[in-house]
Amino acid sequence: MERVCLAEDLSFSRIIHGFWRLADWDYSSDQVLDLIEYCIEQGVTTFDHADIYGGFVCEELFGKALALKPELREKMEIVTKCGIVFPSPNRPERKSHHYNTSKKHIIQSVENSLKNFQTDYIDTLLIHRPDPFMDPEQVASAFHELKATGKVRHFGVSNFKRHQLTMLESYLDVELVTNQIEISAYELENIEDGTLNLCLEKRVAPMAWSPLARGKVFTSEDEKAVRLRNVLEKVASEINANGIDEILYAWLLNHPANIMPIVGSSKKERIQKAVTALQIELSLDQWFEILHASMGHEVP
Ligand code: NAP
Repeated sequence: MERVCLAEDLSFSRIIHGFWRLADWDYSSDQVLDLIEYCIEQGVTTFDHADIYGGFVCEELFGKALALKPELREKMEIVTKCGIVFPSPNRPERKSHHYNTSKKHIIQSVENSLKNFQTDYIDTLLIHRPDPFMDPEQVASAFHELKATGKVRHFGVSNFKRHQLTMLESYLDVELVTNQIEISAYELENIEDGTLNLCLEKRVAPMAWSPLARGKVFTSEDEKAVRLRNVLEKVASEINANGIDEILYAWLLNHPANIMPIVGSSKKERIQKAVTALQIELSLDQWFEILHASMGHEVP
């Protein structure tokens, strides 16, 4: 498995697995462990989480599985996020949906995550969303303390646009190692608005969430999905690929920005397709044909 170097002492597997949907799978700890081990066997060693996933339960479900085989901890990179607050049966004290990127909240959230994962360090902590009420000095101070105590090795952001990322960065004494953004052949916003260009400019590899557009490309009857599906099927048959998901992953992996797609499926054969896609080279004609299908017109 190709690795992407994010810092001198940190690399991610090019294909990442995401646990947003873990609570929906209704898996026992043994089943979660089996999935983790399958991923690691495929070279997928980076696992994406957030404190809020599954209404604040996914980190704990993962941690319970990891506790069955704690020696796996050293073989993986755990990414988690903080900063979104909403009421939940698991957080009854929370009254409303808002963001909180205060030092106190960030540190408390990391302490909870460490407990949930049953580990003593997080490989990379991301601020989940840009916060309109963010005090960057508070974030900088939280990051500084978490790094100094060894509780978090590296830091990044998610869903940040150029001005939000550069503003925060200007306060930090650590490098931001990634920006986790939505990118897929269906969802082009971060390609079109320069967010991906910023990653290239800063030599920061982005993590791509919902690389299959949450499954929409397979099932939706909206015009864009239908257009895209037709072209993806054509390209898949031209190169004998095993389904349009391989082409969707390859479209991201072929891009020069070193995009790291986060696979959201628990199905092994679907995870395998992302790994297989690393071997697929699309022609420039095919790459642009897919882009055109998504845009609904050709480039000027
Ligand atoms: P995705 O790969 O775009 O979507 C996964 C969905 O597509 C699942 O429901 C899956 O169903 C379905 N799917 C996959 N292959 C399919 C096929 N061949 N036919 C039909 N349906 C198919 O990714 P995602 O789950 O939305 O997101 C991936 C990860 O990104 C998450 O786990 C999370 O870690 C991260 N994320 C981050 C943010 C953020 O704000 N930072 C936001 C959203 C997600 P099955 O489960 O049945 O395979």
